[in-house]
Amino acid sequence: MAEVILAESAGFCFGVKIAVDAAKEAGEKYGGAWTDGPIIHNKQVVEFLERLNVKQLSPEQQLKKGETVLIRSHGVPPKEEQRLKEAGVNIIDATCPFVKKVHDKVRQLVEEGYFVIIIGEHGHPEVIGILGHLEDAGGEGMVVSNMEELIKNLPHKRRIGIVAQTTQNEDFFREAVGYIAENTEEVKIFNTICDATSVRQEEVKKLAPTVDVMIIIGGRHSGNTNRLAQISRALNPNTYHIEKADELKPEWFEGAERIGVSAGASTPDWIIQEVVEKIKQITG
Ligand code: SF4
Repeated sequence: MAEVILAESAGFCFGVKIAVDAAKEAGEKYGGAWTDGPIIHNKQVVEFLERLNVKQLSPEQQLKKGETVLIRSHGVPPKEEQRLKEAGVNIIDATCPFVKKVHDKVRQLVEEGYFVIIIGEHGHPEVIGILGHLEDAGGEGMVVSNMEELIKNLPHKRRIGIVAQTTQNEDFFREAVGYIAENTEEVKIFNTICDATSVRQEEVKKLAPTVDVMIIIGGRHSGNTNRLAQISRALNPNTYHIEKADELKPEWFEGAERIGVSAGASTPDWIIQEVVEKIKQITG
């Protein structure tokens, strides 16, 4: 049987645990809640929560007074929070404390007079929330998602402050910071990539080159899972990104002796265990 090595920190981070527990509680205590998108980027967990009546708002839906709305771990722009308050709904705020820290750092940079660069993914809900706080603080800034974009669009500002979306790739963040620092008179940097993200990425960097096959488990829309898969693939071309055990193909493991497994921060333990068991069955 091949050896299966599971990365130590694979699976739910503490921010996701908070959000999923809050959603379960909303289902059990309040008979359900609305969310402005999936609570986490994991289809199986979202389906489980839907059975507890925790469902996603549709774009045209009007909220009724007294209904419950759960703010996801990604956070929301202040304007959106205000809109919810005015609608008279009960708000459960499950914004991850690491995301709140990015909001605070953006406000600090604006107060200190910096133009703010957010190293992050355009259109991601967390980045939309961060931009909302930038706007609310009356600041100026931009989002940068790759080096090409940064080199093309870096503005001529004397003072630039930098933050990162919490799940950004550490290597890209470092490269971007280096480039901005070389081309700007004064730079202030807050590395707001959360510990959960950096620990998972470091583990994959160590594990991927030492195994024959690497399996990364997590939602296809999960940014942090996709980045783990990218990092792993760059170090080991035999990397496969799956959402659940029945996607595993026996031919991936032919001749493999060591198999590495990791999972994004929104992947529940039971899915990870199913995958590990299935790999053992296939290779056994
Ligand atoms: S990945 Fe980090 S920022 Fe995102 S929810 Fe988890 S702990 Fe919070």
